[in-house]
Amino acid sequence: SEKIVVKELAEKLNVNPNDLIMKLMNLGTMAAINQEIDFETAEVIATEYGFSCILENTQEDMEDDIFEEIIDNPEDLVKRAPIVTVMGHVDHGKTSLLDAIRETEVTAGEAGGITQHIGASEVKINGEKIVFLDTPGHEAFTTLRARGAQITDIAILVVAADDGVMPQTIEAINHAKAAGVPLIVAVNKIDKLNANPDRVKQELSEHGVLIEEWGGDVVCVPVSAVKGEGIDHLLEMIILVSEMQELKANPNRPAMGTIIESEVDKGKGPVATVIVQTGTLSVGDSIIAGHTYGRVRAMFNSKGKRIKKAGPSTAVEILGLSDVPEAGDKFIVAKDDKTARQIAEKRQQEIRAKNLRVNQKVSLEDLFNQI
Ligand code: GDP
Ligand code: MG
Repeated sequence: SEKIVVKELAEKLNVNPNDLIMKLMNLGTMAAINQEIDFETAEVIATEYGFSCILENTQEDMEDDIFEEIIDNPEDLVKRAPIVTVMGHVDHGKTSLLDAIRETEVTAGEAGGITQHIGASEVKINGEKIVFLDTPGHEAFTTLRARGAQITDIAILVVAADDGVMPQTIEAINHAKAAGVPLIVAVNKIDKLNANPDRVKQELSEHGVLIEEWGGDVVCVPVSAVKGEGIDHLLEMIILVSEMQELKANPNRPAMGTIIESEVDKGKGPVATVIVQTGTLSVGDSIIAGHTYGRVRAMFNSKGKRIKKAGPSTAVEILGLSDVPEAGDKFIVAKDDKTARQIAEKRQQEIRAKNLRVNQKVSLEDLFNQI
């Protein structure tokens, strides 16, 4: 992923590099003045100084010369489901919570309850859909964001009631803050004898997360992922928070979205899980995804069911790409196969040219070192 040298970041922010190094240490990152830190860390630091970070040479730059931005008419926009990421410290119960959430759907008896892993799951509560990204933790959130893709609408911060706020809890708070994504706190493991939810709330307030009970506006839900307690309440709160965000998209336009996972399947070839963010993706569409292209041959929803169309805020597995795209790559529907191939090939050339430049730079430095 993209990186910046500490010294350079300090110059850009106009702060003392030593202050910056101290801040990094507080975040658990040890870096010397001439060392590189990754984009996500730089972003968290910059936010603390009141700056925002953008990546140079992002995918958007590559797209600029190819696509005209489609501006939707407000009257074409309709409500879309929230896309949710679960974050929190290791062992606080992220995976268990996602399992418990999927379980509600299985017991609700939809589609026989066979959940196929596609990298995202969808659940319904009182008729409203919620999409969960299945990779918990920061990896999904930060790799996607570092690549310029923001797909999360709400972050669930899982904090174990018997353990309290821990380093990765703080990291998750900072990442959500930097991304401007609202948090919902799930105080987990309330079934445990030594659970102390009040201490969790107190500690959260010390890190700038003020829950409603404490006069803030952050929703906090006590849950037990293992016993399945509080899960419905949590889902209802997600719907409530998403309604305040007024999430909308236009289903009647060519689809655009983001790749969240991809792999080569022995039988099926390149398989990618994508989130459609706006528009409707249909079987037969020609798409470009990063440096790959292809015509959507088949689509499967999060329950493994073959579907023909996928509207905004839908996770689908697609077959038909020429190669595996990277998580975080955007996909977009092209006019036809030929256009898709041309654009993908242009991008492949750009990648090769960039690699060449990097290699040349390295060899020049090597040369100096030898002298
Ligand atoms: P992750 O690392 O955040 O994904 O955490 P896991 O979901 O893997 O959970 C870590 C451990 O905590 C596992 O042994 C779980 O069984 C346990 N655990 C998770 N949620 C609960 C809960 O609500 N109550 C209790 N008692 N244990 C839980
Ligand atoms: Mg886990």
